[in-house]
Amino acid sequence: MASIFSKIICGEIPSYKIAEDDRYFAFLDINPIAKGHTLVIPKQETDYIFDLEDAELAGLHIFAKRVAQAVEKTVPCKRIAVLVSGLEVPHAHVHLIPLNREAEINVTAPKLKLPHEEMQEIAEKIRSNFE
Ligand code: AMP
Repeated sequence: MASIFSKIICGEIPSYKIAEDDRYFAFLDINPIAKGHTLVIPKQETDYIFDLEDAELAGLHIFAKRVAQAVEKTVPCKRIAVLVSGLEVPHAHVHLIPLNREAEINVTAPKLKLPHEEMQEIAEKIRSNFE
């Protein structure tokens, strides 16, 4: 069965899309730790990130770098944290999280509840900064 992220890639499930190319896709995390929290995924569905072929894994990080630069231009922060957890969704993904203090990287803390309009606005701004 297709993962929820594969359904996002093909448009079956809506997302706050940031960017895509032929191999990778980026979109806002629906339960963000911080404003601008973005997920970057390979289009090829693989559960565990370290099962990706070397070139695919390298490409994922290179694409994530471009996305992180766009997030950093959009959301005031010291830098973009990179997190790979992957216990919830069995489709490899990299979290990009705008960070001001290390304590903000707490995946068990209550998530932000942002209105749909604000999520749309953040996604649009990041998209416009993506090069
Ligand atoms: P993990 O697998 O532990 O890295 O967590 C999966 C992440 O995917 C969580 O941060 C969820 O909020 C996020 N997530 C799950 N479903 C969606 C969705 N439909 N759109 C955007 N993000 C999602």
